[in-house]
Amino acid sequence: MSDIIINEVVGWIQKYHSFLITSHEAGDGDSIGSQVAMDFILQSMQKDTLILNKDAVPETYDFLPGVERVQTKPTRNLEEFEAVIVLDCGSLERTGLSLPKTSQCLNIDHHLSNDLCCQLNWVDPQMSSTSEMVYLVADALSIPMNLSIGSNIYTGILTDTGCFTYSSTSPQCLRIAAALVEAGVQPSQIFSQVYERKSANQLLILGTALSNLTMSKDQKIATILLKEEIFEENAATFADAEGIVNYPLGIASVEVSLLFKEVSKDFFKVSFRSKKRVNVAVIAEGFGGGGHHSAAGAKIRGDFTLVLEQISKAIYQQLANLAP
Ligand code: 5GP
Ligand code: MN
Repeated sequence: MSDIIINEVVGWIQKYHSFLITSHEAGDGDSIGSQVAMDFILQSMQKDTLILNKDAVPETYDFLPGVERVQTKPTRNLEEFEAVIVLDCGSLERTGLSLPKTSQCLNIDHHLSNDLCCQLNWVDPQMSSTSEMVYLVADALSIPMNLSIGSNIYTGILTDTGCFTYSSTSPQCLRIAAALVEAGVQPSQIFSQVYERKSANQLLILGTALSNLTMSKDQKIATILLKEEIFEENAATFADAEGIVNYPLGIASVEVSLLFKEVSKDFFKVSFRSKKRVNVAVIAEGFGGGGHHSAAGAKIRGDFTLVLEQISKAIYQQLANLAP
């Protein structure tokens, strides 16, 4: 099945000359890595490309080769591009951009929540990352692997598998990681760049977050609320709070961890993480968001206590429907 669609993707790429590449707002390792890798691949085919994102590349990923090609204010007229490639993003709305109206659109994504927004959609939730899918495209196009493409793809796989620990860590993604290491990628260097360049403020906000942890009566739902002023007091941004939501999963009884980041009064960016039994993508979709089975997010308006009650209800409904 995958082979047929990869061949279609390859044929589609070969058909056009100029491409606008984009992904979801608030980029992460996989969205940035897959876009820059795709850009390198298209450049090596002498295609004309531009990467456009709503938000600037987070500092964590500034070491990636080619990342300077990501633009937030386009230097060219977007209408000049024949085709659009949307990576790691389940809907055009989540790009946060107003893209030129073209029917020549390709979507490559691994989210469970995906509304098949393009003319050609390769969506496979079994894939560890969109970067893994971009590797398969490069392979099908016989593009030789090199350090620039490899570092981007490796970073996407590394970050989206939680350093090869999530259930999405498949034999295929490990084989690809091995091939990338053979192509010159150094795992220890990439790990160090991504995970060992934090600021003191990032650790301080983690400390504050963990001391604000609350547990449901049955200890199954862990919740952290980060109020607006906590970001101000710690001179921290939302990006500095990345990863915090994963910590409460370390508690034996916890099924779901929730992190509420207050955008403004009664408006939150909520991150959901689960340990397998609960499908949090479905719950996030109920609030206009989406994601994966075990990691999802949504922007939610409403009173914190009421929203938490609604989310908890949805979690308990799923737990009740499971076999004991
Ligand atoms: P995070 O909690 O780290 O922001 O996001 C976890 C996962 O959920 C990611 O795969 C991300 O793409 C997805 N996600 C986060 N926020 C949203 C959202 O507002 N809408 C959708 N559709 N997906 C989201
Ligand atoms: Mn991804």
